[in-house]
Amino acid sequence: MLWTGSFLALFLLIRMMPFYKPTPEDPFSGPYWYNPYEHVVPGGRWLRANFHAHSNAWGIFTNGRKNTVDDILCKYDSLGYDIIGVSDYQHITKTNTNLFIPVYEHGFNILKTHQGAIGARKVYHNDYILPQTRSQKQQVINKLAQHAELVVLNHPAWRGGYSKKDIRQLTGYDLFEVLNDFWISEKLWDVALSGGKPVMLLGGDDAHNVFKQTDLARDLTLIYTDSDTVTLRDIYKALSCGMAYGIEVTKNLARSSVIEKRAGLDDMPLLKTCLIRQDSLVVALTGKAGHISFIGQNGRLLKKVPDLGNGWESAYYLLRPEDTYVRVRISLPDSSRLYLNPVMRTGVKGQKPQMPVSQKRRLFTIFDK
Ligand SMILES: [Zn+2]
Repeated sequence: MLWTGSFLALFLLIRMMPFYKPTPEDPFSGPYWYNPYEHVVPGGRWLRANFHAHSNAWGIFTNGRKNTVDDILCKYDSLGYDIIGVSDYQHITKTNTNLFIPVYEHGFNILKTHQGAIGARKVYHNDYILPQTRSQKQQVINKLAQHAELVVLNHPAWRGGYSKKDIRQLTGYDLFEVLNDFWISEKLWDVALSGGKPVMLLGGDDAHNVFKQTDLARDLTLIYTDSDTVTLRDIYKALSCGMAYGIEVTKNLARSSVIEKRAGLDDMPLLKTCLIRQDSLVVALTGKAGHISFIGQNGRLLKKVPDLGNGWESAYYLLRPEDTYVRVRISLPDSSRLYLNPVMRTGVKGQKPQMPVSQKRRLFTIFDK
């Protein structure tokens, strides 16, 4: 009887646990280059966006108790943002804005393994509270993907939320919050890209109190559009294709007032074009840059165009046969930084490489319905 009970308990436990195969590392390859900025032309617009700000929805559990949804909308509107996401924990907060995008932050575990759901249709309420196994992380990502347009790994390198090993083996998500006020996860992004995961960048404030100057407009995402009437679909598509880039503002600007920040952002040069011409990746800005870095497989610095004092409006990198992806990081004269999405090798012309599908371990799929 005891044996039967134990066996049954073990069976149910195994039945409940997700087990996924590690997704193999498979660097981008193929005869073509996928360039997310191929359709970016100087006549288009760059929308200013933040998908990560918390209101006082959870009362004493988050700081910024006075920080209401209206306060968030008002501050970001003053800063010239086109998209103002209120990403409360486990809750889709409706806002009265022109371009309301349903978002929330998922996760209530001790190691801050968090995800963002963009274009969320409903909240996924489960989480694993203790430090999570890679399979548990994979399961949460898969569940979120069922109910949202885009799944983001939020502040992935912060407090070990995701290890390098996790990032080598996880799949099924769309965006990487490389830029976050608490943590910059640039190196970990290179781990994902080097393993052949075509994940695009997101920059977000993770603001908890919009009355604190350093919570606002420090890390943002600019999204390209060539249309006057932007739809939610356009935004999701631009983010997933990579027609966006991130900005990390300089420390001076981070500490300045809303008015100064607005002026700083308005003055900042924009990405004009990023094109592949013959064998070169050519990037051009609407203003002057300090130095420009080209980064590739395993986060290696491939080329650095030095700051010679006069400022650069464009730079190029000669693509080599062994390059799998190349991304550009631009330092502006005030030391703010622009992070571009990578160009990646692909087997199909014009198509972004595909994210591998997660696979359950065979032993346990026999229990699956
Ligand atoms: Zn978080």
